[in-house]
Amino acid sequence: SVATPSSVPTSLQSFLASPKQLLINGVWQNAKSGKSFDVYDPATDQVVAQVAQGEAADVNLAVQAARQAFDNGPWSKMTASQRGRLIWKIGDLIEQNADELAQLETLDNGKPLGVAKVADVALAADMFRYMAGWATKIEGNTIPLNVPYAPGGEFQAFTLKEPVGVVGQIIPWNFPLLMAAWKLGPALATGCTIVLKPAEQTPLSAIRLGELVQEAGVPDGVVNIVTGFGETAGAAIASHDDVDKVAFTGSTEVGKLIIQAATGNLKKVTLELGGKSPNVVFDDANIDEAVAGAADAIFFNQGQVCSAGSRLFVQKGIYDEVVAGVSEIAANMKVGSGFDESTQMGPLVSREQFDRVTAFLKAGVAEGAEASAGGAAIDRPGYFVQPTVLKNASSDMSVVREEIFGPVVAAMPFGDESDLVSQANNSSYGLAAGIWTRDISKAHRFAKQVKAGTVWINCYSIFDAALPFGGYKQSGWGREMGHAALENYLQTKSVCISL
Ligand code: ADP
Repeated sequence: SVATPSSVPTSLQSFLASPKQLLINGVWQNAKSGKSFDVYDPATDQVVAQVAQGEAADVNLAVQAARQAFDNGPWSKMTASQRGRLIWKIGDLIEQNADELAQLETLDNGKPLGVAKVADVALAADMFRYMAGWATKIEGNTIPLNVPYAPGGEFQAFTLKEPVGVVGQIIPWNFPLLMAAWKLGPALATGCTIVLKPAEQTPLSAIRLGELVQEAGVPDGVVNIVTGFGETAGAAIASHDDVDKVAFTGSTEVGKLIIQAATGNLKKVTLELGGKSPNVVFDDANIDEAVAGAADAIFFNQGQVCSAGSRLFVQKGIYDEVVAGVSEIAANMKVGSGFDESTQMGPLVSREQFDRVTAFLKAGVAEGAEASAGGAAIDRPGYFVQPTVLKNASSDMSVVREEIFGPVVAAMPFGDESDLVSQANNSSYGLAAGIWTRDISKAHRFAKQVKAGTVWINCYSIFDAALPFGGYKQSGWGREMGHAALENYLQTKSVCISL
């Protein structure tokens, strides 16, 4: 058992004191190996829980349970309306337990509690409700045929939309509950069954969500949760021959491993991967809003957002003013424990992430960038770094090319619209982009030309369950959210009848 550090709210202590097990076929159980792993509070570097360490043997059991629930279980026999009501209920239960879930996110991930509540938890509840509505609206088409080699033949043809089957879902640590919701919502709405693996850094809210899924009345085996490490539990899901589809959110590097692992049975793959998104400020923008928006685009969630505006392009005439404005916000930001109400930015999620971000800060300065705010770690327990603005950045620097996944923005000037688009698209990623301008035509031209799955005009980081999200280029395959997400979990079957 784990001694409870002083950082843990008393309201969480009974949940944390109970064993943290795997959910397989409706039964909470230890890993077959009996092993568990430590979970840390990133604000204190202290262990707050121990969680069952699922591996291939546990994944096998979870896949068997999901297969049984899909092929023979009550799930496939329920009406879409019954499924929809259960999914809606999960949303209700998330809302009813919003405080506890937000506290778990802050404890496990480090993010400010207020943000966890209004963003992560509220969006997660909304995702289930949005997807609950889709359950009854999954329809095929009727299709007129003109078969050239059957002149005069009369046919009736239509498509059926069927759930793809057993799906593996592997999620990251930056929005632990919300990423589970993005994955589970459409899979449940389409009638799939699931093996979900949360990130090893942040498994707690997924475990609590598993309890809520049971409380909602979702039948055993429909949602199985296997906590554990990527190279073992994650790899076992991605390579499993009885998994019909894998959905992954995480790094581009691991996304490529998932594709390789999926080749055995050619399971369907969707990926939501890294980004290095351009955020562009034109000199005709509302500068105050653009400055605040540019700071928010990178510092939200400690910069641990795949769509963060990490390349800031500012038109030459206002470059100094905008960089100074964003730097001032960075320098004045209150960094601290997510449980402290005045905190605007929390710690990074893990020691590993802290090492990675601080290494990038050193590399950026060594390559010639200059920190106009921040630039270093903060000397205190926990994984804290300063919100950082790097100016004099250029396209050959690692801090401009590579995803840092931390609160570090690289600022670069541009001349006019024509050089901007090629600079903005000069990236192996294509997840999101932002543009700040009062010129509506310029904004629309940019939106059409930029190679990104989401374009924000005079705003940034606006997410909605109805709005598809996903990447061009090495930012991924497929779209999450919106009705686009349902396609990831459906097969289309053509049926043709001779009349
Ligand atoms: P990060 O590097 O930011 O931690 P990852 O892409 O490594 O992000 O992790 C995202 C998710 O992928 C986590 O749930 C992690 O456990 C999982 N994962 C990591 N490596 C593998 C792998 N080889 N196969 C399957 N899943 C993996």
